[in-house]
Parts: sequence; C-alpha cells; structure tokens
Amino acid sequence: MGKKIVVAGAGHGGLVAGMKLAAAGYDVTVYERKIRADLGYDWEDAIDFRVFADCGLEPPQKEKYSFNGDMKFYNPNLKTPIIVPANGKGSAVFERSEIYDVLIKAAEEHGVKIVYSTEIIAPVMNGLRVTGIRTSDGVVPADLVIDAAGINSPIRRNLPVCCNVDRDYGYGECFYAYRAYFNKIEGHEPDVAYEVFLMHQGEHGISWVVTKDTYVDVLIGRMAPMSDDKIAATLAEMRRFSPQIGETLLRGGSQEQIPVRRPLSVMVCDGYAAVGDSAYMTMPMTGSGICAAMRAGVMLADTVLADREERYSRETLWDYNRKYILHYGQSFAAIDILKNVMLCTEVEGVNFLFDKQIITENDMSFGTGRNEGGMAFSDVLSRGIRGIGNLPVLLRTAGALTKGDNVKKVYQSMPEVYDEAAVLKWKDDVLAATTLMKR
Ligand SMILES: Cc1cc2nc3c(=O)[nH]c(=O)nc-3n(C[C@H](O)[C@H](O)[C@H](O)COP(=O)(O)OP(=O)(O)OC[C@H]3O[C@@H](n4cnc5c(N)ncnc54)[C@H](O)[C@@H]3O)c2cc1C
Repeated sequence: MGKKIVVAGAGHGGLVAGMKLAAAGYDVTVYERKIRADLGYDWEDAIDFRVFADCGLEPPQKEKYSFNGDMKFYNPNLKTPIIVPANGKGSAVFERSEIYDVLIKAAEEHGVKIVYSTEIIAPVMNGLRVTGIRTSDGVVPADLVIDAAGINSPIRRNLPVCCNVDRDYGYGECFYAYRAYFNKIEGHEPDVAYEVFLMHQGEHGISWVVTKDTYVDVLIGRMAPMSDDKIAATLAEMRRFSPQIGETLLRGGSQEQIPVRRPLSVMVCDGYAAVGDSAYMTMPMTGSGICAAMRAGVMLADTVLADREERYSRETLWDYNRKYILHYGQSFAAIDILKNVMLCTEVEGVNFLFDKQIITENDMSFGTGRNEGGMAFSDVLSRGIRGIGNLPVLLRTAGALTKGDNVKKVYQSMPEVYDEAAVLKWKDDVLAATTLMKR
C-alpha cells in the first residue's frame, strides 16, 4: 500500500479510479492543466443517472437535473424521420459543472490531491515501463500512471510503439463539435424537442437541435475541423429548418473534439492504463462518454487493488482492459459500424434505409440509452437492403452492415491473459473486423 498513483488530467474516469484508490490507502495525485473553475464545459450533458450509485457517489440533488424525452432522427433528405420514444427511460440532463462538483468533492474527501494549472507534456519511460509524467513543472515519478487526459492525451500520443497502445485516431473517428445555446424564437415549437440530423446537410457527421422552454441547444458535429464561416453558414441553413433558433448566443459557442470510434484494443502497458476519452470510450453514434469513463474508473481501481504484488504491468492490468472491452467496448464497436454507415458513407444509402423503413425505431433506440447493445446487422440486411438501386452504394452499405455481425465474435475471442503474440493477433483481428472502407 501507499504506492504512488499519478492521474494525468482530471478526466471523469481518472477521478473515480483515483478516489477508490486513495480510499484504499494509495497516494494519488491528479495533474490538470485547467483551474478548478474551468473544469468541464459550460453546458449540459445527458447521462445515465444510475452511474453515480454504480461508482459509490452521492448524486446531485433532484432540482439539479431533468430527464430527456423522445428523440427524432432525421435522414439526410429530412423526409422520413424516426421518432424513438424515451418510454420513461430518457437520460438525465445535468450541468457538466454539477457532475464535476460531485467527482471533485468525493475525490478530495477520500484523499486525492489535485494539482491545477499544470501542463502534462509526455510520459517518462524506463525501457518498456511508464515510470512517471513530464510536466511543465518537472518530472513526477509514479508506480502507475492513469491516463485521463482526454482524446489528445500527450501520454498516449508519446508512448513508444512497443507499448502496443495505438497513439492516434484517423478520419471518421473524431467529431469536431460546435455547441452553443441560442435564444428561442417563439411560435415555432417542434413536435419532438430533441431532433438529431444524420449526415446533416449531406456532410459526414451529425447535428442536433434541442428546443427547451427558453433557449435552443445546437450541436454541429463534423469529421473535420470547421472554420467560423462554415459554422455560420451551417447555422443559417439550420435556422431555415428550425426557425426557433435565435441569433443571440447565450452559452457555449466553442468547438471541441469527441472521440467517435471503437475503444483502444490495448489500453494498458507496464505502469500505464488509459481511461475515458484517452481510450476512446465514448458511444460512437452520440459521443456520450461520461458514464463509460466513470464505470471504467471503477473497473480499473478494482484491478489495481487486486494486484497484490503491486506490479501494475501489462499482464496484471489486462484484467481491466478485458473487463472494459467485454462489458462495453464490444457493444460500442458494433455501434461504431452503425455510425460509419449512418454518418460516414453515402447519403443515398442512409436515405434508402430510412425511406424504405429498413432501419427501425428499435435500431435507433441506442440514442435514448435503451439499446446500448446496438442493432442486429443481419436483421437489417434481411429487411431488404438489397433494394438499393445503385450497385456501389448497395455493396458499401451492405458490406458495412455485414461486418457488424462479425465484430462481436472477434471481440469475444479476446485473450483471457496477456500473451504478447495472442494480444497482437487479436488486435489485428479487431482492426480487420472494424475497418469498413478505404477513404
Ligand atoms: C460538445 C460535446 C457534447 C458532449 N455531450 C455529452 C453528453 O451529453 N453525455 C456524455 O456522456 N458525454 C458527452 N460528451 C463527451 C464527454 O465530454 C467525454 O466523453 C467525457 O468528458 C469523458 O472524457 P474524459 O473525462 O476521459 O476526458 P476529458 O473530458 O477530455 O477530460 C480530460 C481532462 O484532461 C485535461 N488535460 C488534457 N490534456 C492535458 C494536458 N496536456 N495537461 C494537463 N491536463 C490535460 C483536460 O483539461 C481535462 O480536464 C460531450 C462532449 C462534447 C465535446
């Protein structure tokens, strides 16, 4: 006991893991570039309310959150939307700052130290082992580094190749998301408040318009960074369809990145474990990642606590890697296939799936949190995808969906113990099963 744990970045999963480990007597310090008041974002997030209890946390009081209702998904031609009823199971909507208040309070109460205004630069290596972090204030040694520094983590990005942790993401694996709250123009109330636009305006990505009582929450997510002019033009187009979106910016207005891909296959190495966005733990269609990050934080802490010899090696940390993949990662990887079809292929294919009612309300119910396991891809194929007139579009769309059924099988074959050759082979198999198309 008393081993030194460094949490790189005050990400949600890192705070949960740190809290559990500090409670068990570990010496835990979080290093974070922002100041306390700037943690998170100036907007609300939808999460599964049960996550607080799952992590042993006291949830915010009732008056601090509300519940999302039904969701309406539009295909690119906007003609045949699908409404997915929440059926009383909508996600809870919290201010991000409220979530951070809960996490920071619990972490500090359990003895976690948090050092703000510190830029993390890279891992410190000793051979194959991560032995600390290099920060703007110098080197910090650690027996274990928990990487909770988000999608562009400088730790993950600077790991040597021999750690087997993929350092970068590619096209279609990250949303560049502009999010803003605007004033609401009265007189234009949509039938469903939460509207999601797939391959919006014919572009790879997603947008949403959430119409509240006094404001409208707008998100524009694309697979490449957007210029200010591009955002302004997209907003102008959105206002034509959704005239309730006013011109006065009330909150937000920044462009941020969200991972939207399968999780890292290998998220641990000697002295290192990634959690949350640094390991791409978001649900790929929606980019929701808070719950998965927090639950993974519990899994990681359990694995560390079970490592009686305090090795924190790739072999002993593999148990965490495997638990995460089998509980969440494989389902999210299947949803990643759906995302590739719905957001990154051809407009014609997506319109066809909606117009001919091949995609159903049930297939899209992941958005409400009802169906995190995703769709049965072979079912979709049997529902008549063969009807697409354009042969190349048919082949690409059907090919992508066929792949979806194979993904779970490959994930199930994940090695039970860390054997280098077996892990590398499985990692290659995952890549082959999830790579859909050349871009
Ligand atoms: C527009 C938008 C909407 C979203 N909506 C939802 C939603 O409704 N529901 C949901 O569940 N999720 C949502 N997400 C995703 C969610 O933000 C992430 O999945 C979640 O925050 C988990 O990521 P994380 O905590 O691992 O990393 P992050 O939230 O990225 O936190 C990483 C931390 O590390 C710090 N850091 C990074 N680099 C360094 C460095 N070099 N040195 C020091 N510190 C560093 C950062 O400052 C930050 O505090 C949304 C994201 C965006 C951008």
